[in-house]
Amino acid sequence: MLRIFSDELLNPKNFVVTLELVPGRESFGRSTDTLVGIAKDAFADGRISAVSITDNPGGNPSLSPDVLGYEIFKHGLDVIVHFTCRDMNRVGMESRALQLARMGMKNILALTGDYNGKGFGGQGAPVFDLDSVLLNAMFKTLSKKLIASGDPEEFFTGCAVSPFKTKEAETHSQYKKMDKKIKAGASFVITQLGYDVKKFHDLILYHNAKNKDIPAMASVYLLSPRSARAMNRGRVPGAYVSDDLFNKIILEWKDARQGLKAAIDRTAKLGVILKGLGYRGIHIGGIHRSFKTVGAILDRMEEIEVSWQEYLSDFENKADNTYYYFDKKTESVEKQTVMESLKEKLTDHYPYKILNRAHGFFFDRKAMLAPVYKRIATLFEKNNKTWLLKRCLEDPLKVLFLSCQSCGDCGIQHLAFQCPESGCPKHTRNGPCGGSRDGYCEVYPDNLCIWVRAYERLKKANALTGFLKDSVPPRMWELNKTSSWINFHLEKDHQK
Ligand code: SF4
Repeated sequence: MLRIFSDELLNPKNFVVTLELVPGRESFGRSTDTLVGIAKDAFADGRISAVSITDNPGGNPSLSPDVLGYEIFKHGLDVIVHFTCRDMNRVGMESRALQLARMGMKNILALTGDYNGKGFGGQGAPVFDLDSVLLNAMFKTLSKKLIASGDPEEFFTGCAVSPFKTKEAETHSQYKKMDKKIKAGASFVITQLGYDVKKFHDLILYHNAKNKDIPAMASVYLLSPRSARAMNRGRVPGAYVSDDLFNKIILEWKDARQGLKAAIDRTAKLGVILKGLGYRGIHIGGIHRSFKTVGAILDRMEEIEVSWQEYLSDFENKADNTYYYFDKKTESVEKQTVMESLKEKLTDHYPYKILNRAHGFFFDRKAMLAPVYKRIATLFEKNNKTWLLKRCLEDPLKVLFLSCQSCGDCGIQHLAFQCPESGCPKHTRNGPCGGSRDGYCEVYPDNLCIWVRAYERLKKANALTGFLKDSVPPRMWELNKTSSWINFHLEKDHQK
């Protein structure tokens, strides 16, 4: 394993630069050669600590980061492999991790992943067997096993965080999930892309207060009109480009040369600001043609570094409805009409209250009646009649109130009594993915993100203290289609 990236990043005196490469849908050909060429030039330049390689970006098939990474790695440049939860179950993921360990590539960026795009014959099936918190935990556990079996090096695993969220619920959820990923084993953090410097500041303040020993890097991107449009329209999950900035970029690129010059300048300015704010490095994206552009960004950064504060106003967010963790602790409550308020009570507040009560009564192992429930559950199981309880009582109630998918390892209590299987297309049990936009789901933009709903429900019930506090183990697939009630009382599920 090359230790260039980890050694440089873990030394607080360094400001680290990494470069993101995005492979295409070809094994050989011009675009693949270009990426290898960029990596070789980066190595020769000497200012780049590692290249990171994306894993089927946008959910669409592309050349594997493992194979392209290995080719680059063999040239002596360190590589960060993006590793998502979308395309493989935990067995495939663990096997892939072993393969990477064998190849010596142990810098991992562990991500939930964008939702599935299209492959052969149409859209791919979403897997999301683990989430990014659990993926970090998997690498930590695997590292211990590998060391015990004679592997000389652990994995060096990092996580992503998206601070560019407008809502209080999203912002808190993102920050808390970042804490969970760090607790699970992440050794570094890389932010999503965005052009709101106050958000970058907000995150680093939070991060340094909570996890100051874990280095945080910030993403910057060479914005072209195409990428700016995609980010402005919300087509890059978690990334943010304001309308003002988008319009400015369109004007700049009327002359392509001027457009590129302005893009280099903007990237360099944001880079020095982020250094000034206390980020430990930048992660440069949007480089598809040549390393020259990266060299120009880094040269420009060296020129303007001392005056970084002068550029802060270039990256202000003009929208006034954005929530900042350190600016206003609570979001102003929007006035609801009588009908809206009634709907909210009927769909969220009262169901939460009822389910919370019922859950406390029936599913608390410390409750007085818990031994009785256990005895009943044992009787059902002994007589092979668990199906009776499930079909006659559990299924009708849970399908009606929760759109239950009968996973047998119920996780509603971690989500303010919503089902992660039916409510979240990525089945997240440990916090939101990075893709929500203005509170709405990345995959189904007409639906509120299930974590935003959970936060709002808990806030209204004054029960936010436990929100996203503990790590929830992976779903136990061996319990699929069995009675979650029986499984709970017989201590077979993840809460055992
Ligand atoms: S519900 Fe939330 S966490 Fe789940 S996919 Fe949608 S945005 Fe991501």
